[in-house]
Amino acid sequence: MNGNFVAGEWVTSQQATPNINPSNTNDIIGEYAVADEKMVADACDAAAAAFPKWRASIQQRFDILDAAGNEILARREELGRLLAREEGKILAEAIGEVTRAGHIFKFFAGEAVRMTGDMIDSVRPGIEVAVTREPLGPIGVITPWNFPIAIPAWKIAPALAYGNTVVFKPADLVPGCAWAIVDILHRAGLPSGVLNLVMGRGSRIGPAIIENSHIKAVSFTGGTATGAGIAAACSKRGIKYQLEMGGKNPCLILDDADLKIAVDSTINSAFFSTGQRCTASSRLIVTEGIHDRFVEEMQARLATLKVGDAVGEGVHIGPVVDERQLRQDMDYIDIGQKEGATLAFGGARLECATPGFYLSPALFTGVTNDMRIAREEIFGPVAAVIKVKDFEEGLAVSNDTPFGLSAGICTSSLRDATRFRREAKAGMVMVNLPTAGVDYHVPFGGVKESSYGSREQGRYAVEFYTTVKTAYMFGG
Ligand code: NAD
Repeated sequence: MNGNFVAGEWVTSQQATPNINPSNTNDIIGEYAVADEKMVADACDAAAAAFPKWRASIQQRFDILDAAGNEILARREELGRLLAREEGKILAEAIGEVTRAGHIFKFFAGEAVRMTGDMIDSVRPGIEVAVTREPLGPIGVITPWNFPIAIPAWKIAPALAYGNTVVFKPADLVPGCAWAIVDILHRAGLPSGVLNLVMGRGSRIGPAIIENSHIKAVSFTGGTATGAGIAAACSKRGIKYQLEMGGKNPCLILDDADLKIAVDSTINSAFFSTGQRCTASSRLIVTEGIHDRFVEEMQARLATLKVGDAVGEGVHIGPVVDERQLRQDMDYIDIGQKEGATLAFGGARLECATPGFYLSPALFTGVTNDMRIAREEIFGPVAAVIKVKDFEEGLAVSNDTPFGLSAGICTSSLRDATRFRREAKAGMVMVNLPTAGVDYHVPFGGVKESSYGSREQGRYAVEFYTTVKTAYMFGG
């Protein structure tokens, strides 16, 4: 059994969760210990005890994060295979995600030694003002299942780089990558208590972390409803929190778009990674002049995609992550048809060589933006085509959503692309690119119900993981 990691020790428990491969439910990847409230309390105590020394160890922070990044990169094929087996994205995507995690650790290694502040003359003669950033203390990190290594990396790496300690709770569907990250950081020389791993059900472990008085901030990625509960719990304690949640990302395709670019980028962002990305394009908003050609081309391309085992040869789309998510996807496919949309492609549960949660990518046409399939996050390989008259209507429909994570446009008009970039109500805008697929060194996040708090990733991460101190000094 793979244990939790508390105060520098691997700790097993009476209860374990099997890590099941969604491509083949007969393949059990491992057994992972389930933490309890006492283990969480011990982890928070350890993180608090380790904090004073860790915050003063800049060179050590660089060395450990850099070494961890190097090991992740060196083992990208092996870790990618583990990720593909436990989450179900295809091997190439999984190796890409692991590579990204390695780069994130190396980026934040550099950030540890690049902390700056400001020295400002006071408005009062003879006084100097120093503005510095300080770590917060023990941070609760709570992550979802769909990016099992990249999301933990983009929270844990900056938390540690800026001198905080961490209590980490991964999603219970994907303990393998979480365990591997902690093992790598531990062997890279992380002192006891600096990073603790507590696995298990969110409804039990999550509140135990958030309500612990040692925890000074919580960084969460997951569903909007879970995020709302976390916000309430953190507000009650008066601690800082950062939420990255759902999306219903539009891609606006205009008459003057390059059809190949439009189809390539929407096939990628709507269906790759089985559509299980918060930045997936789930609303394809298409102007009248290109609509029929776009739909025909999409149908033709979808027919060439192979759904199958995530580590299988020639597979483009792996399985849905589990039975519950598959049921949710199928329910929405049903809802869409009942709402009057046309299922123009796919949407059927598939039998493959091994027992798994396979679904053919589903394309709806004749969708209106008030339908549930256009308003609610499905989180599967299901996309809705909404026909609009022109750019103006397309922009309005793009923005008519409670979410605001990523928004894309395909056009050859600089004027329309520029207007869209300025007027899209989203944290990230993509021009002639998939709405999903972002760099690791620039800010990531959204607006409206998609995100709350300061941005993640790149140098902007410093905002969440530190607090600012202003010191006034008079030499006499
Ligand atoms: P989820 O909300 O069910 O779970 C996320 C994490 O929260 C898990 O670790 C879970 O165990 C934990 N959790 C559950 N209940 C909790 C509680 N009461 N208190 C504290 N923690 C609790 O989400 P999921 O199904 O793992 O992930 C899918 C969702 O994540 C989708 O909505 C997707 O859009 C979102 N997501 C967002 C981003 C982003 O950056 N915006 C990125 C990836 C995924």
